[in-house]
Amino acid sequence: MLAWAYDKKSVINPTFDAFSVGKVIWAMIAGRPACSLWYFRKPENDLTRLFPNQLEMHWINRLLDRCVVEEENQMKILNGEEFLTAIDSANGAIKAQAIPPELVHSDRVLFPCRVCSIGEYMPAQISLGNDVNGSAGKASKCSQCGHVAFFYKP
Ligand SMILES: [Zn+2]
Repeated sequence: MLAWAYDKKSVINPTFDAFSVGKVIWAMIAGRPACSLWYFRKPENDLTRLFPNQLEMHWINRLLDRCVVEEENQMKILNGEEFLTAIDSANGAIKAQAIPPELVHSDRVLFPCRVCSIGEYMPAQISLGNDVNGSAGKASKCSQCGHVAFFYKP
């Protein structure tokens, strides 16, 4: 139940749907019944802890941050159309294996290499004929195996 729905007569609002879909997404990924209230970031519910080697979980948490919230005025996804756009955005970041900004500190990526799990990503100048270090993000290269990843640049 949404906190902002308590003590109100049932007025259906698109934010109810966005909150509920967020909770269903969490439950589907976690493989458990929905977490209590908006507590998906508590350690026992945090997808990045339940699946520590899955970079995707950071992007899912960022999506849930926008819709599984305590107060209605904290909602960043207000309706189904905005939800689809947010899912497309998260899916694009996941497909690109983009590293979310919370894992990047001073150009160091605080996440082990996705290929060898040993090396760490270091800033790299990569030339693919396009401006790779432009709007798409910054390139990083594994210190051990050379795997290249891009991290999100807001
Ligand atoms: Zn590596």
